[in-house]
Amino acid sequence: MKIRLAGIERESVVDGPGIRFVIFGQGCPHRCPGCHNKHTWDPKGGYLMDADEIIKEVLQSRIVRGVTFSGGEPFYQASAFSYIGREVKKHGFDVVTYSGYVFEDLLELAESREGFWELLYCTDYLIDGPFILAQKDLSLPFRGSRNQRIIDVKKSLEKGRAVLMSDWDILVV
Ligand code: SF4
Repeated sequence: MKIRLAGIERESVVDGPGIRFVIFGQGCPHRCPGCHNKHTWDPKGGYLMDADEIIKEVLQSRIVRGVTFSGGEPFYQASAFSYIGREVKKHGFDVVTYSGYVFEDLLELAESREGFWELLYCTDYLIDGPFILAQKDLSLPFRGSRNQRIIDVKKSLEKGRAVLMSDWDILVV
């Protein structure tokens, strides 16, 4: 399976807890004013990579504890990201997914959009919502603006509503 990427960061400490392998998907429909990753917007930009190659790289890493899906908008290629997520989770890596959609919209969209449920189910922690320039706050761990939430996806899917995590919760998981 091919996935279109804006890039890969193999050892990041700013995209979720611990040292993480970060996959930046290409293509984003949100167009947030103030976005620092405008080069990720074009769905035809970036480059194609084989999802199995990425999985292989993650499994070979001796220091990352988890994988982060960022963008761009990972749900733009939900099936490919969920394929990677399922495989790396089998080997004990946790999954953080960033999305410009809020959790409630993702639940609704999942009814009709291919791969959305699968990507939600393989995500441990979702950082949701668009970047809002007026709420920009560089002091927040792992996110850029105050509207963005850290969501425990497993608990949220069980309860049918967003179960939020505090900054402390995500730093110590
Ligand atoms: S969701 Fe992220 S990548 Fe997309 S426009 Fe907003 S800040 Fe940029």
